Amino acid sequence: MFATLSDRLADTFKNLRGKGRLSEADIDATAREIRIALLEADVALPVVKEFTAAIKERARGEEVSQALNPAQQIVKIVNEELVEILGGETRRLRYAKTGPTVIMLAGLQGAGKTTLAAKLALWLKEQGKSPLLVACDLQRPNAVNQLQVNGERVGVPVFAPEPGNGVGNPVAVAQASIEEAKRTLHDVVIVDTAGRLGVDAEMMQQAKDIRAAVNPDEVLFVVDAMIGQDAVNTALAFQEGVGFDGVVLTKLDGDARGGAALSIRSITGKPVMFASAGEKMTDFDLFHPDRMAGRILDMGDMLTLIEQAEKVFDQEQAAKAAEKLAGKGDFTLDDFLQQMQQIRKLGSMSKIMGMLPGMGQFKDALANFDEREIDRIQAIIQSMTPAERDNPKLIDGSRRLRISKGSGTQVSDVNQLVDRFNEAKKMMLQLAKGGGLPGMGPMPG
Ligand code: GDP
Repeated sequence: MFATLSDRLADTFKNLRGKGRLSEADIDATAREIRIALLEADVALPVVKEFTAAIKERARGEEVSQALNPAQQIVKIVNEELVEILGGETRRLRYAKTGPTVIMLAGLQGAGKTTLAAKLALWLKEQGKSPLLVACDLQRPNAVNQLQVNGERVGVPVFAPEPGNGVGNPVAVAQASIEEAKRTLHDVVIVDTAGRLGVDAEMMQQAKDIRAAVNPDEVLFVVDAMIGQDAVNTALAFQEGVGFDGVVLTKLDGDARGGAALSIRSITGKPVMFASAGEKMTDFDLFHPDRMAGRILDMGDMLTLIEQAEKVFDQEQAAKAAEKLAGKGDFTLDDFLQQMQQIRKLGSMSKIMGMLPGMGQFKDALANFDEREIDRIQAIIQSMTPAERDNPKLIDGSRRLRISKGSGTQVSDVNQLVDRFNEAKKMMLQLAKGGGLPGMGPMPG
């Protein structure tokens, strides 16, 4: 799933590497490539249009972060927009406040409903629930039996009409199952309904009648992700015919291009709640838009890194320091210490740092970064008087000796620190003038 889309997007991002800033033409080209990638993945056209428009607008906008270079900005924006079209937050099941929670499954035959019913039952069991499976697919020969076999596999009982009892009414079965669940203390009822090979009025009516009879807490539309664009049309038909609260995507393990997963939420307005990706009963879980986006971008590490870089690079503090410097030029040793402590935070991610385009040049420095060095700097600065910290020019020979004794270091360490401080001050000055940090591209504003 998503293999081609992932590759395509990766190529797009690669083209942006090394760019200091994005021109209008870069943004257009990027948006065009993303558009093609999505269309090839079988994403519905309105969704593609909306998506690329959002990317363009945001890439042009002022939300640029100092911690990221343009390629990273685009990855970040695409990631966030993917999460958005996939539904944003993970939508969790709503349980009934009183009585058993009723979950009704609807979808075409072959969508994977019966398999899914058992998977869902197992998942619920693992959440500490006591589910009851209900066989209301009385159309397809063997459907009841199949549910019973699956139910047995996951150790969940199945409520079904007595064979040979002449009970052919799925609405009555569904209704009776609720009473049965109450009687036998099952707290979730999963109603499997009949599907057809194509959408038809009779099937819709039956599903609608079942819905009316049992008033489900959740109606889940089950759809085979492999059917591509058709998944969207089927979803719309079911939305009109029966209505549903959430979507379950099945067969995500297949080699489909993934368009259904990306389109369905935007087109129907209903979230994908679960994903089923395999024939094993445990190949099933809540659908997490953020994880799915991460998989599509195939850049788990990069995304973590972007997040961390943004967290670590305390923009407010950097801005304050720059402002101070620009104003009165009073960047002090206390500020310097603060900056070093920021760098320490970076030190912890030195391992993955090298993957950041443009950051490679710092890789060695970070790899050799000695945590104890910061402790030493801290000790030296803390052995200074406030006046010395504010104005390092005061620190003459005898003061250096006193400071080195107080901090348990050598005079040469104190000298080195003062030199470093002066260098940092120069760099800060450059920053304040808008020169930007080396390798980070120009600063905005
Ligand atoms: P139903 O007609 O909607 O009840 O569909 P079934 O549950 O009978 O599933 C139809 C076929 O799809 C069966 O052969 C299942 O084993 C298969 N299937 C269901 N879910 C998945 C899945 O997530 N991945 C794969 N690869 N096959 C699945």
